[in-house]
Amino acid sequence: MLLPCPYCGPRSSEEFTYLGDASVKRPSPKAAFEKWHEFVHERRNPMGLIREFWQHTGGCRAWLVCERNTVTHEVFNMVPARSATPPGKVKA
Ligand SMILES: [Zn+2]
Repeated sequence: MLLPCPYCGPRSSEEFTYLGDASVKRPSPKAAFEKWHEFVHERRNPMGLIREFWQHTGGCRAWLVCERNTVTHEVFNMVPARSATPPGKVKA
């Protein structure tokens, strides 16, 4: 699978490190234990469009947000994490 690093161009996914789900929203520091448990330990495994954090560890080392389809492996967007939209639903 090729991932389009916004700084280096298309590169093999072997150059990248998966850093987790980019769609979960961090609870407030005063949130209930159950909310923190859900944030830290529980993850969905959806089919279709997802948002993930990746780092280009074999290249520019940038933290990136990737929007891709888990069924077709098509990558729709990969942007620097600092310019990504806040966690939420994937744009259609
Ligand atoms: Zn890069």
